Amino acid sequence: MSLNLRTLDDIDLQNKKVFLRVDFNIPINNGVVGDCTRIEASLPTIREIRQKGGRIALFSHLGRPNGCVNPKYSLKPLIKVLEQYFPNTSIIFKDGDYIQNPENFWKNTDENTIILAENIRFYEDEEKNDIGFAKKLAQLADIVVNDAFATCHRSHASIVAITQFLPSFAGRLLESELTSLYHFYIQGKQPFMAMIGGAKISSKIEVLKKIIPKIQILGIGGGMANTFLLAQGYSIGKSLAESGQISIAKDILQQCQKSNKKVILPIDVVVAEELSPNTKVTIKSIDELSENDCIFDIGPKTIALLKNALNESKTLLWNGPLGAFETKPFDQGTHQFAQYATLLTKEKKITSITGGGDSVAALTTLGLEKDFSYVSTGGGAFLEWIEGRIMPGLEVLFKNNPASCAILF
Ligand code: ADP
Ligand code: MG
Repeated sequence: MSLNLRTLDDIDLQNKKVFLRVDFNIPINNGVVGDCTRIEASLPTIREIRQKGGRIALFSHLGRPNGCVNPKYSLKPLIKVLEQYFPNTSIIFKDGDYIQNPENFWKNTDENTIILAENIRFYEDEEKNDIGFAKKLAQLADIVVNDAFATCHRSHASIVAITQFLPSFAGRLLESELTSLYHFYIQGKQPFMAMIGGAKISSKIEVLKKIIPKIQILGIGGGMANTFLLAQGYSIGKSLAESGQISIAKDILQQCQKSNKKVILPIDVVVAEELSPNTKVTIKSIDELSENDCIFDIGPKTIALLKNALNESKTLLWNGPLGAFETKPFDQGTHQFAQYATLLTKEKKITSITGGGDSVAALTTLGLEKDFSYVSTGGGAFLEWIEGRIMPGLEVLFKNNPASCAILF
């Protein structure tokens, strides 16, 4: 499948100074760097550019510093991490107002150097997609390569406006995210099951609407299932729910019924009075909840139903944890479903796709992320892609007609 995307195959990289936009927005707490999956995902791009004679300056954001310099959001702790991946290379960190002196930017660098620029969101104009700022960024390099798939849904200067001033190309991670989505999602074999969880229905409505025509089975879990249970007339005690979304939940259930899609909602749940590890936990059928109960996970009968549904499926799209997995024992629904999905994946009975910040964090905690057929690094961008939105950061990377990226949805 040809993506019509401008990639590293379309440029001579020899002696080019490359503005490489990556998404290194990874957990850093008090200088301690957490999960490095996103860094590892961009290593092939970094290596290929260097092998082909290009020189690299890495640009990323970290968190939401709101346009202010804030040491809490500094990328400095990544110097050591990069030094481990590139032992014979010196990593030069650029902080301060580096865009004011473009002539100094590459000073004292050679093919054995990688520049790491400080958090691009320390400049307030980044998130404004400011043209003047983008022009200054563009003065730092000869070409721009975007490998930050996870930021492509943002109209920010280092993602969008900069492409007005420099020839721009997709990095290998971005390219592979798109080809994988096409291969695993668009061309996913039927029967297709979607398992949607997470805290809120409001953040998943567009995803739900978009996937219904594609799937045969819809599993609903997590906090968002509570609003569906309300829509079906159950009492859910003090559980998290969005009363304003009940009519949408009803619409979605109706849409599934009309088009003969199987919907699996929790039939039993794990309840407690509060979300804490030492709290008293009870498993209840969905029609026996009392007014102080809070649902924090799906129950064993529901897990069994979902496993059966997986047995009937050839493709699984999963987004959203099935319970408040961060607090034990409410991780069981997520854990057992993930374990079964990875088992069937290993046995080549299903193809499994997942994405979403918390979903991937849950899988990583369980050590199961490598056993899915495809795990997107995309988070919010992954969800927007599923929703069928044309993301601003992608649009600018397509050849000829930017709208040609629409063929991907
Ligand atoms: P993703 O980032 O993968 O798209 P979401 O952000 O939609 O996922 O949802 C993840 C959050 O949902 C997690 O923090 C989890 O604790 C929460 N959650 C899931 N089920 C429940 C529940 N029953 N009650 C409260 N929170 C829940
Ligand atoms: Mg989330």
